[in-house]
Amino acid sequence: MEVGERLTFRATFAAHEYFFCSKECREQFIASSEEYVAPDGTAPRR
Ligand SMILES: [Zn+2]
Repeated sequence: MEVGERLTFRATFAAHEYFFCSKECREQFIASSEEYVAPDGTAPRR
């Protein structure tokens, strides 16, 4: 039985775990994670 390959599209950033719909979305998040979440885990200000 294959175990949820879809769930492999995830990343941990600032002690939070994020899930993505695709490898591309995950890599885009990692490449610009500062724009999504501040280093302390709070929401971005813009
Ligand atoms: Zn996506």
